[in-house]
Amino acid sequence: MKYLDEYRGRDEARRYARAIAQLVTRPWTIMEVCGGQTHAIVRFGIDDLLPDGIRLVHGPGCPVCVTPVELIDTAIQIALREEVIFCSFGDMLRVPGTDRDLFAAKARGADVRIVYSPLDTLRVARENPDREVVFFAVGFETTAPANAALVRLAARQNLRNLSILVSHVLVPPAMEAILAAPDNRVQGFLAAGHVCTVMGFDEYEPLARRYRVPIVVTGFEPLDILQGVCMCVKQLEEGRCDVENQYSRCVQRTGNRDARQVITEVFEIVPRNWRGIGTIPHSGLGLRSTYSAFDAERRFGLAAPSVERAGECLSGLVLQGLRRPDACPAFGTRCTPEHPLGATMVSSEGACAAYYRYRRAATREPAPRDSHRTVQAEAARDPVSRGLP
Ligand code: SF4
Repeated sequence: MKYLDEYRGRDEARRYARAIAQLVTRPWTIMEVCGGQTHAIVRFGIDDLLPDGIRLVHGPGCPVCVTPVELIDTAIQIALREEVIFCSFGDMLRVPGTDRDLFAAKARGADVRIVYSPLDTLRVARENPDREVVFFAVGFETTAPANAALVRLAARQNLRNLSILVSHVLVPPAMEAILAAPDNRVQGFLAAGHVCTVMGFDEYEPLARRYRVPIVVTGFEPLDILQGVCMCVKQLEEGRCDVENQYSRCVQRTGNRDARQVITEVFEIVPRNWRGIGTIPHSGLGLRSTYSAFDAERRFGLAAPSVERAGECLSGLVLQGLRRPDACPAFGTRCTPEHPLGATMVSSEGACAAYYRYRRAATREPAPRDSHRTVQAEAARDPVSRGLP
């Protein structure tokens, strides 16, 4: 396969769907832990192609969505300081804190700048030696190598006016928290292909054995996801709990050695609070003491963090696969991408944003007498009409 279209072939997709249907003898619940996969599933209607017994649920796979409220509040506190230039990727600016977001801070005069690479902040720091430049280092294992490289370069270049506000989270501990929860319904996982491209998949093997769940490292295109589901269902039906690699064109068992090395050099494993979920032990990265001079929280010494307030947003349940976005009473009415109540409606990788973008027409249609879908809603849900060539 050379071209993207080849990963989206309609006939192949239907062949996989038929193969899955032939395998299934009982219901199974499978979770993907990647916002990119969530969007592909919703956009292309992959769940609609599957037999009734296979339920796909969406996990905490969007890094923006799981960044806790207190860290947004901390970012805003730092950004509002007169001497600070606060740099961030654009999607973090609209994530709600306790009572405002970074855009509101910018409107109040904070010097908040959108960057497209963490390394852009090196240039900003060099060009502004009299200012403090802070980068909002958010993300899973995928963004950690570049953020670690930023800190290492800043140290080598002796850039003393640069620091990072760290909110890195790790996927395997979140999967373990979901599996260990008393109300867990997840029986198999699609692991995120890009995370495993960096980290490999050897660290998933103890998890698969301990909780007796199959884990399939999976890519992001429709045929990747269907093949990943097929491999997962086959394991479930055969009573196996192995880690398998569907995304072998990118992922090796031990990942990218250089990327893992720079992460280990700069960061250490710490407990991390996940928005809507709570604190998960060993689930985050923080700067090692050798690089603590670049820690923005330490540099600015901040007020006590705020406590996340329970509101009408159900994103905590959405992030754990316990509630579908369109089952939230605020979905598409009081909560929209223009006026989000929760981070899962903000981020381009958020599950609520995916349902709003691709399923809103279907969820808005009134139920006809003899079917729960209208013709228009059915068309909106038809995978072929939504992009499979
Ligand atoms: S639709 Fe909005 S309010 Fe409901 S869970 Fe999603 S982000 Fe929260």
